[in-house]
Amino acid sequence: RHAQKSVKDYIRTIVDFPKEGIIFRDVTTLFQDARGFRMAVDQLLSPYAGEQIDKVVGLEARGFILGGAVAHQLTVGFVPIRKKGKLPGAVLSEAYQLEYGEAVMEIHDDAIKPGERVLIVDDLLATGGTAKAAIKLCERLGAEVIGCAFVIDLPDLGGRKLLEDGGVDVFSLVSYD
Ligand code: 5GP
Repeated sequence: RHAQKSVKDYIRTIVDFPKEGIIFRDVTTLFQDARGFRMAVDQLLSPYAGEQIDKVVGLEARGFILGGAVAHQLTVGFVPIRKKGKLPGAVLSEAYQLEYGEAVMEIHDDAIKPGERVLIVDDLLATGGTAKAAIKLCERLGAEVIGCAFVIDLPDLGGRKLLEDGGVDVFSLVSYD
């Protein structure tokens, strides 16, 4: 008898990508499997059963794939947060620090109405810089961020602590030391 595969079993690890010394967690092998993808989306939703969610916010790019599926399952709207210069309408911008230099994330300024309750979705939480910028963008539009949901958490990189210290609820399916 074979044990049922878990979400973690579908995640592929690629060493030295995108550069030497980095251990990359590849979720394409999760997304390309029907059972794996459904399991991940269902599990991402499970802690929010019975909670009112008005919008799902997905972070470029793998957060679009997950967030779109989560929004569809909830029958709520989907809002993309994208890298600078990609969104066509009027935007709010938020800069954050990377290992080298900085990055900027943007949201359409009419994407969320004040008081709306949003769930932020992405594939992986590392330092938390990306998610923190996303939370700020949502809050600047008057949203209430009811949580951030990730497939993967890398707790040693401090992202979970950063977000939780800011008062945001963090949920993840698998973690790697
Ligand atoms: P953070 O801002 O928390 O340091 O980095 C998280 C962002 O970088 C996420 O948007 C995530 O997609 C991406 N990321 C960083 N490392 C990895 C990785 O090993 N695998 C994947 N799939 N994404 C990563």
